[in-house]
Amino acid sequence: MARDLTKVYRLGSVEVHALRGVSLDVRREEFVAVMGHSGSGKSTFMNVIGCLDRPTSGSYALEGRDVSRLSRDQLAEIRNRYVGFVFQGFNLLAKSTALENVALPLLYAGVQREERRERARAALASVGLGDRLDHRPTELSGGQQQRVAIARALVTEPALILADEPTGNLDSRSSQEIMEIFRMLNGERGITIVLVTHEPDIASWAQRSILFRDGLVADDRPNEALLRAGARER
Ligand code: ADP
Ligand code: MG
Repeated sequence: MARDLTKVYRLGSVEVHALRGVSLDVRREEFVAVMGHSGSGKSTFMNVIGCLDRPTSGSYALEGRDVSRLSRDQLAEIRNRYVGFVFQGFNLLAKSTALENVALPLLYAGVQREERRERARAALASVGLGDRLDHRPTELSGGQQQRVAIARALVTEPALILADEPTGNLDSRSSQEIMEIFRMLNGERGITIVLVTHEPDIASWAQRSILFRDGLVADDRPNEALLRAGARER
């Protein structure tokens, strides 16, 4: 779905080539890990496929539609309809309860109050937080906060969830819980998941690993093969 994507950031007179020609197909209902050193273009790639930003050149189709030339407003519409985001830092509103945080995307989508609350409740229950609806982020552990963020990504029923280092701030037990939730969302609900991580342990939950290096795809293969190759290199 991505063909020859490039992205050049211009900072004054300096050009940063963040993506140098990335072609990738992520299939529906796939669970993909994206790996690579800091600065290799992972987040830039996620921003393009999540319709947060446009490529400098190349094309990208989401749900069968070329979205690489859409206006900002059109991109926002596609993004709100098809994509859910989960970030390393959770990005929750500190003064709002779990329920309010999760219901917020539905407010933007114009859903009525009672339905918003109902759907937010269901989303929180599906990540195991049905008993924490009225807690604020400071009253929750890191792992619980990330689960609220996943519920918020989920509540609009996206086809695609993009997670940029979602376990980067979590201990290994919470990380495991978060990965179990992603696996459930992928396996039971058929949500396509693309997840950036530095950690091979985390990547091994996915079906496929893609390695970015200097704005290019340096490796792309099913996970078992990747693990065996890694073991050989060591
Ligand atoms: P990663 O997520 O793999 O660490 P990024 O996609 O964030 O990599 O960054 C790729 C390159 O693009 C880096 O050199 C980074 O400094 C640069 N970059 C990323 N975002 C911007 C931006 N908004 N403006 C300028 N340069 C950027
Ligand atoms: Mg990044």
